[in-house]
Amino acid sequence: MPFSKLDLSPKVLEGVAAAGYTDPTPIQLRAIPLVLAGRDLIGSAQTGTGKTAAFALPILTRLDRHGPLRTLVLEPTRELAAQVETAIRDYGRFTDLRTAVVFGGTGYGRQDEALKKGVDILVATPGRLLDQMQRGMVKLDKIEILVLDEADRMLDMGFMPDVRRIVERCPKDRQTMLFSATIPPEIDQLCKWALRNPETVEVGVRRSPAETVTHALYPVASDQKQELLEELLKRTDYDQVLIFCRTKHGADRVAHKLQGQGHSVAVLHSNRTQREREQALNGFRNGRYEVMVATDIAARGIDVEQISHVINFDVPHHPEDYVHRIGRTGRALAAGDAFTIMIAEDIPEVNAIEHFIGQKIPRVKLDDFPYKYTRLLQAAPAPVFGGRSRPKSRW
Ligand code: AMP
Repeated sequence: MPFSKLDLSPKVLEGVAAAGYTDPTPIQLRAIPLVLAGRDLIGSAQTGTGKTAAFALPILTRLDRHGPLRTLVLEPTRELAAQVETAIRDYGRFTDLRTAVVFGGTGYGRQDEALKKGVDILVATPGRLLDQMQRGMVKLDKIEILVLDEADRMLDMGFMPDVRRIVERCPKDRQTMLFSATIPPEIDQLCKWALRNPETVEVGVRRSPAETVTHALYPVASDQKQELLEELLKRTDYDQVLIFCRTKHGADRVAHKLQGQGHSVAVLHSNRTQREREQALNGFRNGRYEVMVATDIAARGIDVEQISHVINFDVPHHPEDYVHRIGRTGRALAAGDAFTIMIAEDIPEVNAIEHFIGQKIPRVKLDDFPYKYTRLLQAAPAPVFGGRSRPKSRW
């Protein structure tokens, strides 16, 4: 079914066409009619499924014309807030609706200016929004539509009390949507409290990573991780790679070594200033950097179309993070590969990930790599399946 059958306004359809989309993704097909009908919604789709447009397009249609602040979208991180605002602005470029974003870690000047002009849609992180409310810059008394995006991540980051305070300041008579990759009990409670008779839209199995992604584990001795990473990059035909590390220092170290090897590398983590983070993201987006090294929180929601590969330099502690990390590749319908470097100590975490995603990840060994002994290399071989550019390997 094409977008034109979905009852979106002609100006919004123009925006969709300008974005180059032809057909709605599954979550868009399911969610758009419900949002247009004014229903509350729980969306348990991952980032990468097209969920931003799933709520933004019907919201733009419902708001129709410029007026007071009527839509609030809460996001866990500044990167995600900035990205979602850009997407909404793009989709709405043929309307006269105004959008602004507020997030912490940066000055008030530009945000105040945008707010003073009067906006219809505000995208915000919870802390800075409360600040701006206290400063009298934002009033929520005319909010008609509230979107709580990436609710599980807001919970993880300790934002739930702030989120509750914000929800309490919105009129009761509103439409509320909540998106979350997972629904732990706290989020379930929030749904019961903040939503009215919601419809649930679940795309695919809630826990599954994007189906277009091919996974592989690369076991190695702990002091050979960097060497293996460099070898993987050499043997892989990638467009752009996103590398995840557990710690900020780890990310700096890996980035520094890759720079020494002649790669163009950007680093993204929370110790960097807002300007450095923006510069890193923009440089990665416009192709100046071929490699981005990031920590989990900083990389949340990064949306770069050309990411062909995600490499986990460290196995994530939480299985959910594995799904989020590799959600960066294989976005929407493109294919991507996800490699995870693992050492013997990672076995419990890898088991938890495999259990969580309900599939075994193949172990892959690089041909002619000078492997040192690790007990991992003694483990039983797992089947290897073909990826789009898997470095040659047989167990
Ligand atoms: P999201 O899940 O909202 O982060 O979107 C993931 C990616 O899919 C973004 O790069 C969008 O631009 C893209 N996208 C969203 N909807 C569509 C669509 N209907 N057709 C093609 N790409 C889309």
